[in-house]
Amino acid sequence: MDLHEFQAKGLLRNYGVPVPDGGVASTASDALRVAKVLKGDAWVIKAQVHAGGRGKAGGVKIVKAFSEVYDEASHMLGMKIVTKQTGPEGKIVRRTLIEKATDIKQEIYLSFLVDRDSEQHVIIASSEGGVDIEEVADKNPDAIITERINPVTGMGHFLGRKIAKKIGLDSSLLNQFAEVANKLYQVFADHDGMMLEINPLVITGAGEIVCLDAKMSVDENALFRHPKIEEMKDYGELEPQEVRASIFDLSYVSMEGNIGCMVNGAGLAMATMDIIKSYGGEPANFLDVGGGADVSKVREAFKIILTDPKVKVIFVNIFGGIVRCDLIAQGVLTASDEVPSDRHIVVRLDGTNVKEGRKILEDGAAKSGLNIVTGDTMADAAQKAVELASGGKVEKKKTSAKSE
Ligand code: GDP
Ligand code: MN
Repeated sequence: MDLHEFQAKGLLRNYGVPVPDGGVASTASDALRVAKVLKGDAWVIKAQVHAGGRGKAGGVKIVKAFSEVYDEASHMLGMKIVTKQTGPEGKIVRRTLIEKATDIKQEIYLSFLVDRDSEQHVIIASSEGGVDIEEVADKNPDAIITERINPVTGMGHFLGRKIAKKIGLDSSLLNQFAEVANKLYQVFADHDGMMLEINPLVITGAGEIVCLDAKMSVDENALFRHPKIEEMKDYGELEPQEVRASIFDLSYVSMEGNIGCMVNGAGLAMATMDIIKSYGGEPANFLDVGGGADVSKVREAFKIILTDPKVKVIFVNIFGGIVRCDLIAQGVLTASDEVPSDRHIVVRLDGTNVKEGRKILEDGAAKSGLNIVTGDTMADAAQKAVELASGGKVEKKKTSAKSE
């Protein structure tokens, strides 16, 4: 789950990490009020969307008068931000963060990630902050320092100082840097962070270290132990399909292709993506109905997939373990009422009650004339889905009730 900058900075503030004073505003007049409360003579107006690279896309503006706060906030609110991370469709700005402007002497990059290979956390730092870290990695990889952190023993002051030295900080800053880095690590570790990125961490003209930006993402599977974080979830940042999926406890990820997938189990979902790609197709989504899928869940899953206009084919790939194939087949049939005639349904069922399941589909399709094609194997069904999605035709052969 991604947090907004203002939410992440709220956590940092609670841990005593220096962040600029600021407040959130969803209207221009509110922005003005926040700036007046902050006082000072320069402010930064920052679009609160789940994407980095806002600066280049007009989502970060420095202003020097109350009138500019008002004008710039009214311009930014409602505007669409398009960056590398938002994709071409962009994100609408619904909130802004108004902060007192900081006097920057130096910009540093700092982030914490989970390293699955070593089963540890890593801290990444670079003296080249404020810019795209991927670019630095490309052009000047030596400027990036990576150190592992053992999650059991934690970070420690020594590692903080070591990193500060490696990125060439002035010796007067080593202790301050180590302290800030340790607090940041605590925020990251205490909340089951997947990523915490501070870009830039700045040294101010007065020699203070301040976190000017904060991007944080928390492990969805750990939200049960962080109710306060879960409450921060901004459904406005999700696609409508993702919002519906969250209501019905389905895990849904939108993608670029035209084959909508309905699958049970994350492993099978991954395998389904792979097999579609290996036949030259592109999945439109990743939708896992989970182990306990029933008729109503299948129906909801279908509805969600159908709201994506890119989808030409719905590929149902279910292995009946705990879930029974006959129930899935019934779900597919009930849901298929709502499937427009120009879309195809390809079904591969296997496992518990597969015979009954296939028979239900066969009879149902014959009765209603639905565009249901079945596949005997996962490969067979995937191939058919890809053919149909690319405008080809697939002969509707009789389903065989054999299972392999
Ligand atoms: P991002 O583009 O989404 O990563 O947004 P950031 O919060 O990182 O802001 C982008 C850039 O704007 C930073 O790297 C800074 O150079 C600049 N910036 C942001 N806040 C301030 C500020 O308070 N003072 C000054 N001088 N520059 C700022
Ligand atoms: Mn940034």
